[in-house]
Amino acid sequence: MTDENFPTEMSAIIKKEKQPGLELTNWPVPRNLGPQEVLVNVKRASICGTDLHIYKWDQWSAAHMEPPLVVGHEMGGEIVAVGSDVHHLKIGDHVSVETHITCGHCMQCLTGNGHICENVKILGVHVDGTYASYVKIPALNAIPMPKNMPWEVLSIMEPFGNAVHTVFAEDISGKSVLITGAGPIGLMAIAVAKAIGAGPIITTDISEYRLDFAKKMGADLVLNPKETDVINEILTYTDGEGVEAVLEMSGAEPAIHQGFEVVQPGGHVALLGLPQNNVSLNLTDWVIFKAIRIYGITGRRMFETWFRARKLLQTNRVNLKPLITHSFKLSEFEKGFDLLMKGKAVKVTLIPED
Ligand SMILES: [Zn+2]
Ligand SMILES: [Zn+2]
Repeated sequence: MTDENFPTEMSAIIKKEKQPGLELTNWPVPRNLGPQEVLVNVKRASICGTDLHIYKWDQWSAAHMEPPLVVGHEMGGEIVAVGSDVHHLKIGDHVSVETHITCGHCMQCLTGNGHICENVKILGVHVDGTYASYVKIPALNAIPMPKNMPWEVLSIMEPFGNAVHTVFAEDISGKSVLITGAGPIGLMAIAVAKAIGAGPIITTDISEYRLDFAKKMGADLVLNPKETDVINEILTYTDGEGVEAVLEMSGAEPAIHQGFEVVQPGGHVALLGLPQNNVSLNLTDWVIFKAIRIYGITGRRMFETWFRARKLLQTNRVNLKPLITHSFKLSEFEKGFDLLMKGKAVKVTLIPED
C-alpha cells in the first residue's frame, strides 16, 4: 500500500468518551496495512441496533468498549488497497463485511465455528469501525459482492446474514413458522422464509409501523399482541396445530413465551433476540414433553451463511430494498439515530462524504 495515495484525515463518527452520544470528528485514515488486511473505501454504512446501544452507552457497551473509537460495523464499500499477502481480492472489488474478526486458532475457529470464536473482536466495538470514509479490515472479513448490487444493499448484508442464519437453523420449507419481532432482522427473515417456501408465515410485533412492513415482506398473518390474544389467533389460524418453527427476534419475554406455547410437538425454536434479563421457561410442558429443539443463534456461520445470503440476493429471491427507509449523509447521523430510537425507520444508511 502506498500511503501517499490517500488523504491523511477523514470524517468519522466516534465514541469519544465513556458516556452517551456520538460525535463527528476528523480522524486519521487507517495506515500500515498488515499483509493480510485490506483498506476499504466505505460507500455506505448502515445503523444497527448495536449502534443504538453504543449511542445510549448502556451496560453492554460500557462492558465491551474502550473509547475513543470509530463506531459502526455494517457497510458496503470498494477495496482501495490490499496487503502484500492478499491475492484473492483486488483494488476495485465491491465488498460487504463480516463484522466478527476471529482469532483463527481457538477450538471454535479450528472446528468450523468461527461465529462463536472465543477471542472475537467486533468491528466498531473493539476496533475502528465503518462510520468513516475508510476502514481497515482483515481480507477474510471482506466478502466480495456482485458489482451490480447497490451499495445500500451491501451495507445491510450483515444483519441479513443474521436472518439467513436463523431461518436456516433447520429446514423450514413447506412448514408453518412464527416470527416474533418484526425489526429489521425479523423482516428480513420473513423474506427469506418466504423465498425458501415456508408457510404460512405468521409475524408478531407491538408496532403497527413494523407490521405493515411485515405484510410487504410476505407475512401471511400479522398480529399485534397489544391488541389481540396471539396464542388463540395462531391456534385458530393453524387449525389448532400451532407452528412447526418459531424464529424469535424480539428478545421480549412475552413473545418468547408465546412462541413456546404455540410451537408444535417435535418443532423447533431458534432464538436470536437478546433478552435484557433472565427469562423463565416451562421446560416440562414447553420443551421436554413436546420434544422440541432450541437453537441459540449468534452472528453468521463463517462463511456458509454468507454464500447463502449472497445467492438469495443475486438470484432475486429476496429484495431488501424496501427495508432501507432512510439515508443520510454521515454528518447527519443524528437524524438517523433519532428516527430509529423513535421506531420510525427500519434500516437507515449513512453516506460518507469524503
Ligand atoms: Zn449489525
Ligand atoms: Zn477463534
